[in-house]
Amino acid sequence: MASFNIVVLPGDGIGPEVAAAGVQALKTIGEVFGHSFNFEEKRIGGIAIDTDNNPYPEDTDRACLAADAVLLGAVGGPKWDLGKMRPEQGLLAVRKSLGLFANLRPMDVKASQVHRSPLRAEVVQGADLLIVRELTGGLYFGKQTRTETTATDECVYTVAEVERVARVAFDAARKRRNKVTSVDKANVIETSRLWRETVIRLHKEEYSDVELEHALVDSMAMHLVTRPTTFDVIVTENMFGDILSDLASVLPGSIGLLGSASLGATGKGLYEPIHGSAPDIAGKDLANPVGTLKSVAMMLRFSLNLTQEADALDAAIDAVVESGFVTRDIGGTASGSAVSKAISDKIRETA
Ligand code: ATP
Ligand code: MG
Repeated sequence: MASFNIVVLPGDGIGPEVAAAGVQALKTIGEVFGHSFNFEEKRIGGIAIDTDNNPYPEDTDRACLAADAVLLGAVGGPKWDLGKMRPEQGLLAVRKSLGLFANLRPMDVKASQVHRSPLRAEVVQGADLLIVRELTGGLYFGKQTRTETTATDECVYTVAEVERVARVAFDAARKRRNKVTSVDKANVIETSRLWRETVIRLHKEEYSDVELEHALVDSMAMHLVTRPTTFDVIVTENMFGDILSDLASVLPGSIGLLGSASLGATGKGLYEPIHGSAPDIAGKDLANPVGTLKSVAMMLRFSLNLTQEADALDAAIDAVVESGFVTRDIGGTASGSAVSKAISDKIRETA
């Protein structure tokens, strides 16, 4: 029997509702497989601005640094939109403090969901992608300057930064369909040339068994919607990854279905659904918990090394979604908490 310390950061809007679903799944996994999960709930985002005047309070940081893994709901909302302090700063702060440099977003289009997709069924059916986005470099963290008439954003990447995120992508590909598409803008941008050279060298030295292709970000945007089934792992820098992952997230038909993992050099990770705080549906028990539960399955897999448990959770999620017992965003009538409970029941039934 193993024991794990999980920090839960519910955050704002629907964050607490979906985080509760994640905790319920972990408790069920604990009961069924005989592990003990200790949960510590901490504040982040808008709610932390209200209580602590800080979107990422110090005691939250201490708890996250000591935890085996962190589960996050969502941050932000109209209440804080015009404030000086932004809830999203809490998110950047926790990523930075934990040294998380790779954001993984798996996305697959289930046959039963194909009709929800804005794209034609024959285009999206069977699409099964993993986007690996670099999280610590590029335009988001470069020097910025501003005068009345001119603004600049510096874009910086080092070989070491490219290498460590490319490694995550190649390692993931080996466990999937063994193909990596590296996305850049090497025909124009210098950091992209460094990116491409580094990926090519690393591939040659250590990963020549993996199929590697390169794509320019503009044509990649087109190909993601015209032939998404031809990709396996996609790796790219911070800004391109931000844009492409939102683009890809519409393929399955609801943002509520997708989870993410942010990983660093240690086993520790931050797990969260890719959607935001959805203030329009907060407090109504309408939020789809599936994206968060998919994130919890990744936590079991990547941070806690509980592969069998992760498989059981993934299978329970798929079974309940396929059965049509789903929330409104994907055409059902069930409440978020009922779906969460059904998935826990399914784990007990099948394990
Ligand atoms: P943010 O700036 O935090 O990313 P956003 O407005 O861009 O927020 P979301 O908060 O993700 O995006 O909401 C986008 C839309 O998707 C909203 O209409 C919201 O209700 C819906 N939505 C988001 N998450 C879920 C969910 N888990 N279940 C159902 N609907 C959701
Ligand atoms: Mg958004």
